[in-house]
Amino acid sequence: MEKIIDLRSDTVTKPCAKMRELMAQAEVGDDVYGEDPTINQLEKLAAEKMGKEAALFCASGTMSNLIAVLTHTSRGDEIILEKSSHINLNEVGGAAMIAGVMPNTIIGANGKVSVRQLKEAIRPENIHYPKATLLCLENTSNFGGGTVYTVEETKELAAVAREKGLKLHIDGARIFNAAVYLKVSVGELVLEADSVSFCLSKGLGAPVGSVLVGTKDFIDKARKYRKMLGGGLRQAGIIARAGIYALENLVDRLEEDHENARKLALGLKSLKGIYIPLDTVQTNIVMVDIERSDLNAFELAKTLKNLGILVSIINERRLRFVTHRDVTSQDIDVVIEVMEKLLA
Ligand SMILES: *Cc1c(COP(=O)(O)O)cnc(C)c1O
Repeated sequence: MEKIIDLRSDTVTKPCAKMRELMAQAEVGDDVYGEDPTINQLEKLAAEKMGKEAALFCASGTMSNLIAVLTHTSRGDEIILEKSSHINLNEVGGAAMIAGVMPNTIIGANGKVSVRQLKEAIRPENIHYPKATLLCLENTSNFGGGTVYTVEETKELAAVAREKGLKLHIDGARIFNAAVYLKVSVGELVLEADSVSFCLSKGLGAPVGSVLVGTKDFIDKARKYRKMLGGGLRQAGIIARAGIYALENLVDRLEEDHENARKLALGLKSLKGIYIPLDTVQTNIVMVDIERSDLNAFELAKTLKNLGILVSIINERRLRFVTHRDVTSQDIDVVIEVMEKLLA
């Protein structure tokens, strides 16, 4: 059978042979007792990379975001976040259901909120209002099309939040993509954040896991919430080992994913009947808007699937193509060629 080109998400990457070998050899212990040396090593490495005091290995990005919300807020608080953000749209309402917080959403530009919008969203003290205690920013913005907040933008937003007494959590599922795009260290990019969650299981190519970082006090509290949610793992060093390998070896290669996304976007942009929002193609995500009335995203995704190309359906008129470690430049040539034929 021909190779399936899977552009649904960067979560589909499979652990490479080297990762599996290291995982098999990983030293382990019981992490609920704090005795898994490989988990401890990953948490130390993650904290160092992000420039924070401490880190916590979590089962998923959804779990680490929820733990961050739980740890920063009290029930009934308001959290401010962009409307299309993953925490708002794709985490099964956990922030509302489990943390009991009220979302105050901003409709940003390509997933990004501006200083002006944030200032407008933070309301003055009034007997009718809940207390806003947390701002969540997503970098890169997934549904914004992989768009990046710069160091400067993050700083300005953080300053507004801090002045109004809000903490800042960065959902940095793809924060390394952002740092590679900006050519800055990830530590510099998250300097102003009180906490950051990032995924090992996306572009970094590890099979499982996310890491939450913050101050030592924050992580101590977060660790207890992780246990409450059932996320206290035992010999988790086996999966942490893949994460260490990814952090040490696979960050710089994200640049290749960005080049492939750029190549794909440029290859598709002149095809009739679709529109590529090129200004959002900064990292590894390409959104494809279908403008032809005789075609919709469901049909096009199905046709592509029959031809061995998998993509995500965002809505009836929009598809998402995500590049990653298991997609090559040659695969992108194939995708462009197939799309050319389909839309000719
Ligand atoms: C993928 C993702 C997450 C978390 O995903 P999990 O599948 O739970 O690991 C969080 N935020 C964003 C922006 C994401 O893209």
